[in-house]
Amino acid sequence: MKQTNIPVMRPHLPPLEEYYREIQSVWDNHWLTNSGPKHTEFETQLKRYLSVDNIALFTNGHLALEAAIQALELTGEVITSPYTFASTTQAILHSGLTPVFCDISPDSYTMDPSKIEALITPRTSAILPIHVYGNVCDYEAIDSIAQKYGLKVIYDAAHAFGIRVNGKSIADLGDASMFSFHATKVFHSIEGGALVYRRPELEDILRSWKNFGIVDVERVERVATNAKMTEFQACMGLCNLRNLSQTMESRKKAVQRYRNHLGQHPGLLLSPEVPGVTYNYAYFAVQVIPEEFGESRDELAQKLESKGIQTRKYFYPLTSQLSIPGLKAQHTPIAEKVSSQILTLPLYTDIALEDVDKVCEAVLEK
Ligand SMILES: *Cc1c(COP(=O)(O)O)cnc(C)c1O
Repeated sequence: MKQTNIPVMRPHLPPLEEYYREIQSVWDNHWLTNSGPKHTEFETQLKRYLSVDNIALFTNGHLALEAAIQALELTGEVITSPYTFASTTQAILHSGLTPVFCDISPDSYTMDPSKIEALITPRTSAILPIHVYGNVCDYEAIDSIAQKYGLKVIYDAAHAFGIRVNGKSIADLGDASMFSFHATKVFHSIEGGALVYRRPELEDILRSWKNFGIVDVERVERVATNAKMTEFQACMGLCNLRNLSQTMESRKKAVQRYRNHLGQHPGLLLSPEVPGVTYNYAYFAVQVIPEEFGESRDELAQKLESKGIQTRKYFYPLTSQLSIPGLKAQHTPIAEKVSSQILTLPLYTDIALEDVDKVCEAVLEK
């Protein structure tokens, strides 16, 4: 029998000809980075696509998140969730702040707003929730807590590009939202990221923050960094933005296929699809309940690997459990449980539906 070999993800690439056409003008004008014409065009198109007024581009999503934390002048403690990629917690720590970990909801895996208030102290300055796998945070509840206590809200929307909720862009929430355009995301610019923000006054700070704090040729006004997006990244983003609706459409088909096969199976939990949300089909995660499924998550991952099917324990471990000196572990029982049971299955733009069938067959094979 032919051994299958299905990766857990595969970056999407536009036709080479299309990228080639896009970068042609870069050869004509020799403008490679520092807010060139492609950068400007990409900004304009993203604003339109995301239905927002204010956006800043970065060389990656992580630095966009650090920029948000610093431009919004957060201090002290930031309430966040440990069920995320290392970046979220690192951005808080690297900015000299203390992450305070809030537990998650058992079905959406996003921050549980009913557990936020108990974590607020006089040192709390902000809430930093994550739209995990593109599941939308309970933003109304989060917003009302933030209003009540005068806290800022920054969303880690790295998984959520293109999502709309009852027709409203997900980018239009809180004080700011960070999007990651990393190669592994639904929409990418090789590496890259964007910050969408509410207050237009932040424009100058963000511009100088990503360019060494430079204000003009003779003035440097802050300790900052280099986090600029290049023209080549912007060109890749422009191509992928053009192809995005097809990308999402083919991922949607794969996810529907997965749901058909696995949606009703005892011991496998899937996040429910919430009516009114237009998803981007970024990830397909299953939560394995060993007592009902008959195998643990780790056993399932092992079984699939032995059949040439790659999976990812995403997110495991929790970021509160990373071995970072000074990081205080906190008890978040639901996040701990989900993290020990979750497995993301292969999903990428050009995955063949027959391969989805093969994965499901392998999952269910005893
Ligand atoms: C990918 C990701 C990031 C970081 O984005 P980069 O563009 O890789 O720097 C942050 N948070 C989450 C949840 C992510 O998945």
